[in-house]
Amino acid sequence: MEIIVGKTAGFCYGVKRAVDGAKEALKQNKILYGLGEIVHNQEVIKELEELGMQFIENIGEANGKTIIRAHGIPKQVYEEARQNQIELIDYTCPKVLKVHQIAEEYANKGYYIFLLGNKKHPENIGTLSYCGENKFVIEKEDDTIKALEALEKSQIKKLLVISQTTYNLEKFYIIEEMIKNELPRNVELVIKNTICQATEIRQKETEEMAKKVDCMIVIGGKNSSNTKKLNEIAKQYCETVLLIENETELELDKIKPDDKVRNYGRGFNSKEKRRGGY
Ligand code: SF4
Repeated sequence: MEIIVGKTAGFCYGVKRAVDGAKEALKQNKILYGLGEIVHNQEVIKELEELGMQFIENIGEANGKTIIRAHGIPKQVYEEARQNQIELIDYTCPKVLKVHQIAEEYANKGYYIFLLGNKKHPENIGTLSYCGENKFVIEKEDDTIKALEALEKSQIKKLLVISQTTYNLEKFYIIEEMIKNELPRNVELVIKNTICQATEIRQKETEEMAKKVDCMIVIGGKNSSNTKKLNEIAKQYCETVLLIENETELELDKIKPDDKVRNYGRGFNSKEKRRGGY
């Protein structure tokens, strides 16, 4: 059996930076709080909990130094932490910070903002706090018309389009085309493709490899946006796609001995367990 491991497998820069940073901080602090799961990967979460990290959902639950994960946080959470005198160790990915900066700059200039992504994703909850009052989240192609209607109703003549850093690239291009075709001529349009390059490269590699193999194994957190998208893309081109979080979930009977298998893991730990996330 031929096994091919994806070149881009493993944690992306932003997640690696946050996980390594948390481990480093745990050497100096017996207890450390983590606002939200630092990575959507139960194996890593368990390891960090064993080292003394306590994961919380609200900043109000923190009782000491708190790690901010790569997804970032809404503006008001910084303020809340300051008021409660909670020290933040901020590992918001620089690429997410860039999206916040763009959103804030254009919101201040009076632009209406379309954010392509999942409404409930923590990264977007953070980004939306920088978008001002006039904004619309486009989750899928069908939402584009509703977004354009909301823009028309607002009577704003300037539109900025940005996206979640892990948004599906193909969908981004489809929605971009729809906006360009439907937008009234008197509305100024600025499109910033804020999909992270790490995401773009992974999605492209997934597509290319899925076309060439008989079975594809996607290793990552089942609630990870990135992993879900890679799984979605793989399924479009490959008949057998196995999404697993660790080696115990691997159903070997689904792989035939003469299959060409692509292993799309997102990193290894010292025990050689596959792990993924984000
Ligand atoms: S996918 Fe990109 S933007 Fe998101 S944490 Fe990783 S490096 Fe940062």
